[in-house]
Amino acid sequence: MPYSAEIIEPTAWPEGVIARYLTVGGGTIDLALKQIRHTFPDGILGTRGLTSATCTGCPATGDFPHWRSRTGVWAGTWDEDIPAEEVEADARAWAQAHAETCRAMPRPAA
Ligand SMILES: [Zn+2]
Repeated sequence: MPYSAEIIEPTAWPEGVIARYLTVGGGTIDLALKQIRHTFPDGILGTRGLTSATCTGCPATGDFPHWRSRTGVWAGTWDEDIPAEEVEADARAWAQAHAETCRAMPRPAA
C-alpha cells in the first residue's frame, strides 16, 4: 500500500499577529502588536505600542499597553516605555491562562 501523507499548512495568521494560543473550546487567542493613537490626560496625542489579546471563542480581550506612568498617578507624564519583552510576557501569560479555561467555541464559518 503506497504511503501518502498530506501536509497540512497552518492557516495564515492575520497581519500583525505574533502568537496564537489554542483554547480548550477550540477557539484561538491571537496576540497582535498595534500602534494606537493615545490621548494622554493632558490632551496630548501620541502614538504608542499596544499588544492586544483577542479570543475568537468569546468576547474576552486583553490590552497590554507599552507605556505606564512612572508613579501610577498622573504627574505630567505617562511616558515611561515598558520593554517590549515585558509586555509580551504579560500578554502571553494572559493568553495562556484564558486558553486553559475558555470553553466557548468559535462560530462556524458560513
Ligand atoms: Zn475565550
